[in-house]
Amino acid sequence: DMAPLTRIGLAGLAVMGQNLALNIAEKGFHISVYNRTTSKVDETVERAKQEGDLPLYGFHDPESFVKSIQKPRVIIMLVKAGAPVDQTIKTLSIYMEKGDCIIDGGNEWYENTERREKAMAELGLLYLGMGVSGGEDGARHGPSLMPGGSFMAYKHIEDILLKVAAQVPDSGPCVTYIGKGGSGNFVKMVHNGIEYGDMQLIAEAYDVLKSVGKLTNEELCQVFSEWNKGELLSFLIEITADIFGTKDDKGEGYLVDKVLDKTGMKGTGKWTVQQAAELSVAAPTIASSLDGRFLSGLKEERVEASKVFKSIGIRDILADQVVDKVKLIHDVRQALYASKICSYAQGMNLIRAKSAEKVWDLKLGQLTRIWKGGCIIRAVFLDRIKKAYDRNPNLPNLLVDPEFAKEIIERQSAWRKVVSIAINSGISTPGMTSSLAYFDTYRRSKLPANLVQAQRDYFGAHTYERVDMDGSFHTEWFKIA
Ligand code: NAP
Repeated sequence: DMAPLTRIGLAGLAVMGQNLALNIAEKGFHISVYNRTTSKVDETVERAKQEGDLPLYGFHDPESFVKSIQKPRVIIMLVKAGAPVDQTIKTLSIYMEKGDCIIDGGNEWYENTERREKAMAELGLLYLGMGVSGGEDGARHGPSLMPGGSFMAYKHIEDILLKVAAQVPDSGPCVTYIGKGGSGNFVKMVHNGIEYGDMQLIAEAYDVLKSVGKLTNEELCQVFSEWNKGELLSFLIEITADIFGTKDDKGEGYLVDKVLDKTGMKGTGKWTVQQAAELSVAAPTIASSLDGRFLSGLKEERVEASKVFKSIGIRDILADQVVDKVKLIHDVRQALYASKICSYAQGMNLIRAKSAEKVWDLKLGQLTRIWKGGCIIRAVFLDRIKKAYDRNPNLPNLLVDPEFAKEIIERQSAWRKVVSIAINSGISTPGMTSSLAYFDTYRRSKLPANLVQAQRDYFGAHTYERVDMDGSFHTEWFKIA
């Protein structure tokens, strides 16, 4: 058909692409859409009609799709990360011309984006890697967008992104140009790592309240709804309250109790932990959330192990503990919040370390601003992080920001109680426990690392520094001893 040229194109019409295309069309930008499997094109066109005759135009072949877009052309891809992105670029780029621009909106490994940006530059094409967060609903009604790569490409579509992104009163649209190269993908990856940490910590709070406090799903729903009015107010706490309130639609009782305790994953959490190790940044809370997912996957092994250790089941240990429910709920809330601060501190430090390595010059405060809406980790808490970096852009760790330090000091006693009661009850709280260990390690001026270094010098002549004189020393320990 001979529709007028559109402003932008979108290729890849699964959950994310379909919803983002409708969002863009709804904001008044005429959009062309394409998908390898053409039934999804028709589906999207049908939705555009039903959702208010939105200016969205479907194409079944890549050539007419590309040629339907005004120059310089901008095409957002939302296909599976990895090889499908390369294939889609190949399919589309043969019809594109100098100055046109491709944007990958998927959860892509940042180095793939950097490789493609170089390859596209040789063809005269601009390239952006843009993290998109917020799932289906975010894509449709306002996601958090993390575009990185060609600044010129960003400028081509800034007006669209500013309208399409989630809008947060007082802090603006949840989008900003992140930085060069793969920085947008990297920041999105760490966002997901932080999301893993938040989810693990919430699950541990649930476990302690349920297993130790014996809270029912109804009580859990009330507690999380209450928490969602205060310092923990966030999307993840809100949906958690909803989950506890949801009855099973296929049987008796609550649905949450029927969900198998096995967590899936798609890779961004693992990449976050790998990058933390690569850059020597301690990220134990995020790492423990990844380990938690690995262990959850061993359902059959855990069932067998529980038989081997049935003599130390949770109930036996609990028999000699008196639990004050109201106090426990209060303490768990404090422990959750303090642990969350540690987890975000780790994520932000990872971003800063990568930014230094790659000379991306990322602005940590700006990143937390665009996470305030649209994305999965959106929370009032992010505003406090932004303020911490506004106060001191060179803050070495969120823990030592005066406001956060105060909040941690107020909570540390409750935090220790929750971790202790969990340990004594045989309930694992790896996220809360490793957060506490992170805090207790970071805050101490003196660690037993002197002994580790002495051991290294003993067996490997790795030398050591002294507390009382300059220089590097080696001792033949076995002779002196
Ligand atoms: P997805 O399941 O990751 O991918 C499906 C899409 O990829 C379909 O359009 C599919 O086309 C296309 N595709 C797969 N292999 C292809 C190939 N070899 N050549 C061309 N196209 C190919 O879709 P999604 O869940 O909407 O996610 C899209 C991207 O956004 C992913 O990178 C994902 O990680 C990221 N993301 C997802 C979410 C979420 O909540 N789902 C949130 C944030 C970010 P066909 O229909 O022809 O198979």
